[in-house]
Amino acid sequence: MKTMKVSVVTPDGPVHESEVEMVSTKAQSGELGVLPGHIPMVAPLAIGAVRLKNGGKTDFVAVTGGFLEVRPDQVTILAQAAEKAVDIDVDRALRAKERAEQRLNESKQSAIDFKRAELALRRAVNRINVSKGDF
Ligand code: ATP
Repeated sequence: MKTMKVSVVTPDGPVHESEVEMVSTKAQSGELGVLPGHIPMVAPLAIGAVRLKNGGKTDFVAVTGGFLEVRPDQVTILAQAAEKAVDIDVDRALRAKERAEQRLNESKQSAIDFKRAELALRRAVNRINVSKGDF
């Protein structure tokens, strides 16, 4: 099987680097699968999971948006925040989910606060799902 190098990078530094047979994730335009030799491109990502397949094994990384860049033998994912499934603090994500839900239920708030709470909820739910390998 052909492989390519994949790196997941955030403003705080690299989160993951490995050789993989396939990268699949959720771009803003829909599901996206990248195999070695894919044409170069840049795609904006949604809050979601990056799945890294190699040797019959799949690793999951939670990402909070960002960009996926494909070059001939290298894929780079640049995200505001990213965590490998094993590094996710599930209790923290559950607390963040609860806080976000509370905020969404408060009646007196601006549209901006509502949007922020919605995004926080999506980040938290994504982390919970990724930690469970639930896709
Ligand atoms: P919280 O309210 O718990 O901080 P958040 O969604 O606001 O969650 P972010 O702003 O997306 O957090 O991330 C801030 C930093 O904390 C990033 O480095 C991110 O990787 C890390 N992080 C956030 N939530 C978790 C988690 N549940 N487990 C591990 N790392 C996390």
